[in-house]
Amino acid sequence: MVEVSEVEAARALLRWYAEMGVDEAVGPAPADLYSWTRLDPAAAPRLESVRKADAPAVPPPDPESISTDEAIKAAEALAAACDSYEALEAAVKAFEGCPLKTGAKNTVFADGTPGADLLVIGEAPGRDEDQIGKPFVGRAGQLLDRMLAAIGRDRTSNTLISNVIFWRPPANRTPTALETAVCRPFVDRLIEITDPKAVLIAGGAPLQALLGITGIMRARGVWREIETAGGKRYPALPTYHPAFLLRQPAGKRLAWADLQSLDRRLKEH
Ligand code: URA
Repeated sequence: MVEVSEVEAARALLRWYAEMGVDEAVGPAPADLYSWTRLDPAAAPRLESVRKADAPAVPPPDPESISTDEAIKAAEALAAACDSYEALEAAVKAFEGCPLKTGAKNTVFADGTPGADLLVIGEAPGRDEDQIGKPFVGRAGQLLDRMLAAIGRDRTSNTLISNVIFWRPPANRTPTALETAVCRPFVDRLIEITDPKAVLIAGGAPLQALLGITGIMRARGVWREIETAGGKRYPALPTYHPAFLLRQPAGKRLAWADLQSLDRRLKEH
């Protein structure tokens, strides 16, 4: 029988991960890697436990372990008490009811011009956003900035950008319905405080979270209304997420049609 050393087995496992497209090291539970000051070999997981963890690398939070209702109620009360952008930002940063916060480095609230007539809402922070604490700063964000610039929009003068989730989900997985529901009162309040002429919904996850609709392919380009917890209604246009457009540049033609529709709407009203 051929003896395979642990090192060789680990190398084979790493090669296999790379071939499967794994490009990030994640564990089964959130860990604050930024607080690690040095590598402690004794604390490293044994190969057996790495092998055992090969199913979903990061399982969604166990709904039994936290009271979603309590977290949502707390978020509703906190959000309702906020009357300004600054107060809402402080409330979101202080909120402990979303399990994603444990594994995130920063709260990613919003970026741009508070009170702008255009509010863009995406999915959730990724790695770059988590590092910097601002939404849409990675490659997808740079594409979003170029798309907005094409209709005379930018963060510094007339656009506010946020997400339906304020903390990075581990390994950039799609946020769960629970996580979205916990953040929703703050998102609603951000929309009300901003009071935009239009909301641009970037991608399928915020489409589902804000309008309860699945299928961005069919929903994009069609104007709808977001109704907030406070009963206010805002015109909303779903479009492709810029990360999707980076992978599928053919979609840019339709995204451009959406942006032109958005531009017309903003100029009309
Ligand atoms: N994708 C998003 O949906 N939001 C971000 O902030 C970054 C990437």
